[in-house]
Amino acid sequence: MVDFNSFKLSKCIQDALVDIGHVKPTPIQEKSIPALLEGRDLLGIAQTGTGKTAAFSLPMIEKFISNEVKLMPNHCRAIILAPTRELVTQINESILSFSKKGNVRSTVIMGGVSSAPQVIALNEGVDIVVATPGRFIDLMEQGFIKLSQVETFVLDEADMMLDMGFYEGVIDIASKLPNLHQTVLFSATMPKEIETLANQILNKPVKVEVAAQSSTVDKIEQSVYFTLAENKNYLLLSLLEDKTKSRIIIFCKAKYAVSEVVELLARSDVSVGEIHSNLTQGQRNKAIEDFTSGAIRVLVATDIASRGIDINDVDLVINYNMPEDATYYVHRIGRTARAGREGVALSLCSEKDLPFLRNVQKLIGKNISQVLDHPFHHDYPLSKPKAKKRYKGRRRR
Ligand code: AMP
Repeated sequence: MVDFNSFKLSKCIQDALVDIGHVKPTPIQEKSIPALLEGRDLLGIAQTGTGKTAAFSLPMIEKFISNEVKLMPNHCRAIILAPTRELVTQINESILSFSKKGNVRSTVIMGGVSSAPQVIALNEGVDIVVATPGRFIDLMEQGFIKLSQVETFVLDEADMMLDMGFYEGVIDIASKLPNLHQTVLFSATMPKEIETLANQILNKPVKVEVAAQSSTVDKIEQSVYFTLAENKNYLLLSLLEDKTKSRIIIFCKAKYAVSEVVELLARSDVSVGEIHSNLTQGQRNKAIEDFTSGAIRVLVATDIASRGIDINDVDLVINYNMPEDATYYVHRIGRTARAGREGVALSLCSEKDLPFLRNVQKLIGKNISQVLDHPFHHDYPLSKPKAKKRYKGRRRR
C-alpha cells in the first residue's frame, strides 16, 4: 500500500499531512505526485473531491522548500488559476496547511474584493499566487504580476474556466511564461476545447485519470422525482422533512430561482443561506461559514458556486432544476461524497427539465432511478417518442 512516506517529500510536509489527517494518498495523488516531483507536465482528468489540490500543491511546495530562490518584486514561482473565488480561497487554505512548517508564501488574487491589499501582497514577490483568471490578467496587464520567475503553471477546473470565456486569456499567460516551466492542467471533463488547449500548452504530459470521463461518482445514490412545475416547492418541502439529512445543498439554474427557494424555505422555518454571483464575497463567505459550522442546514446555490464548495459531510444534494449543461450535474452532485464518502443526490424534474435529464443520462451512461411513490408524482414519457419504423421490405403473402 502506498503512503505519503513513499514520496520524496520533506519531513515538514509529511508532518503537516499527519497533522491534518491525510494518511494515505488518494488515487489521483498516488498517480500525480511522483510525476510532478520529476518535473513532468501533467494532464489530469479528475472530478472535484478527488484530492487534486494536494496532488498539484505538494510537489510545488516540496520544490520551493528544498530550493529557495530570491524573488524579485512582483514576481512569483507558481501560478494556480481556478474559476471561482471560493475555489481559490480553498486552494490557498490547503497550501497554507501543507506548508505551515516550511518557508513558503502564498497569496490569493481574485475579483469581487479590493485589489489594493493584493497589490501590496505582490510587492515583495511571493512563491505561490492562487488566482481567478479575470483579476490575475488585470493585475498582470497593469504590471503588478511579472512572469519571468514562474516555474509552475497550474490550471484547475480548466473546463469551467474555458466555459467562462478565458481561453484566450490562458493562452496569453502561457505565452508569457519563461521557456523552462512545468504546466499542470486539471479538468473534470475532456471536451475538444480542453484537448486543443492541452496540445498548445503542455509538453509531453503524463496523463492521469481517476474516473472515466464525466462518469458520476459511483458512491452517490441518485434518483429523480417527476412532478409538475407548480408542485416543485411542495415536493421540495416534503423532501426536507427527512431530518436525518442535516447538511443539504440545493442547486438552481438561475440567481432569481435561488432567491425564490431561499424565501420559500425561510418562510417554512428551514435555516437557509444562499450563494451566487450577485452577492458580495463577504456574503458568500459568511454563507459557507454558517453552512460549515452547522448554523444553517441548507445552502441554495447556482452552478457557478458548485465547483467551489469543499465542505465535507454534505449528505444530500437536491437539483431544483436539471442543469442545461449536463456536465454541471456531475459537479453539482460531486459536492456530496467528497473524498470517497457516500452521498445522496435527488433531482426534481418537471416537463422543462426532461431534455436536460436526457442529456445527463446520456453523459453519465445510465438512467437515474425514478421515485414514483410520492404525493407529487406526475407521469412523463421518459425518453423521446421513437419515430415509427417504416416497413420497407416486401410484404409477406
Ligand atoms: P479536493 O479534490 O482537492 O478539493 O479534495 C477534496 C477533499 O478531500 C478535501 O476536503 C481534502 O481535505 C480531502 N483530502 C484530500 N486528500 C486527502 C487524503 N489523502 N486523505 C484524506 N482526505 C483528503
